[in-house]
Amino acid sequence: MIYLDNNATTKIAPEVVEAMKPFNHELYGNPSSFHTFGDRIFEHIEEAREKVASLLGCRAEEIVFTSGGTESDNTVLFGVSEMNPSRSGIVTTSIEHPAVLDTAEYLSKHGHPLGIVGVDNNGVLITEELETLVDKYTGIVSVMMANNETGVIQPVKEACAIAHAGGALFHTDAVQAVAKIPFSISEMDIDFLSLSSHKLHGPKGVGVLFIRKGIKLPAFIHGGHQENGYRAGTYNVAGIVGLGKAAELAGEFLNEEVVNTKKLLRKLEKGILDSCPGSSVLSADVKRLPNTATIIFAGCESEAILTLLDMKDIYVSSGSACSTGSTSPSYVLSAMGIDDFRANTAIRFSLSRNTTNEEIDKVLVELPLIIEKLRNISPYAQ
Ligand code: PLP
Repeated sequence: MIYLDNNATTKIAPEVVEAMKPFNHELYGNPSSFHTFGDRIFEHIEEAREKVASLLGCRAEEIVFTSGGTESDNTVLFGVSEMNPSRSGIVTTSIEHPAVLDTAEYLSKHGHPLGIVGVDNNGVLITEELETLVDKYTGIVSVMMANNETGVIQPVKEACAIAHAGGALFHTDAVQAVAKIPFSISEMDIDFLSLSSHKLHGPKGVGVLFIRKGIKLPAFIHGGHQENGYRAGTYNVAGIVGLGKAAELAGEFLNEEVVNTKKLLRKLEKGILDSCPGSSVLSADVKRLPNTATIIFAGCESEAILTLLDMKDIYVSSGSACSTGSTSPSYVLSAMGIDDFRANTAIRFSLSRNTTNEEIDKVLVELPLIIEKLRNISPYAQ
């Protein structure tokens, strides 16, 4: 099969599977237990924490392990909206993942002021609009580092400066950016960052929330004292160790991966534009993740393209994984001013370090045939 849906999830690396194995067998102890066996396991948790901190460029004590990107996003928004009742407002963007947008909308229904910043036609946050929305009630500004559907990289440093100038804290959902673009928290002024293991060849059900030293966020999950009281519950040891290994590998592969995936993505984009009439690459002229391209195939319904590719064992997405199954057009593309008709012809291709030149060649043979077939039967094809 040819898997080009890596923004939905990635294949777990074999080294990660190996690193996790002992924790499902002989190393089964509870890292919170007060005995040597527990201590031994806890050491592996701390080692994983160091590895993640090294990838992100922060201190190990600023890392809190969670169950994934969704929980990290929820923890920040719920936590900050509770921290200071007079500044409990949230400002975010119209293109955030539902883990942020739906949480912000839920909190707004419970009395927390909400401001939603728009994006331009390329899907880039409009910073002037952000400036007008941050006010004395804003507790947190949340802007994703890169969008999951378009791959567009957001002006996070500027957004963070605007948040801080207005007296608010700043969070970035970096779930799609980590291990795809180089960055270091040490060179940024952000307060919170969310990461998800399964997007970087790690196991599912584990993630990270970076909380800048000095900030005391209320706990989101109550119970035991794990993670300094931030996140109660017995540790997902194998998952955390797997994430640590995935972070280590991500650091090793990053530079090579950026170059390789970018080269393959350019080849894919050019090949499609040359061979599929009516195709165009979204946000072609702005900074994007090196692995992501969303392509419009005017006149051909994306669900039909997806199904025909599926029959050839080629897996892509017609939007974010979370919106698949619903026939309504992507809210991200709508926010960019793309009408429903065009939005329903969009296909997202997302590559990974496992993607090969031969796979791209195969897609470039099959896809033009599919598009031609659909254009011949579609009453809308131009
Ligand atoms: N944020 C973004 C930008 C994502 O793309 C995703 C997953 O698709 C999430 C958050 C949710 O992460 P998780 O699947 O780890 O809950």
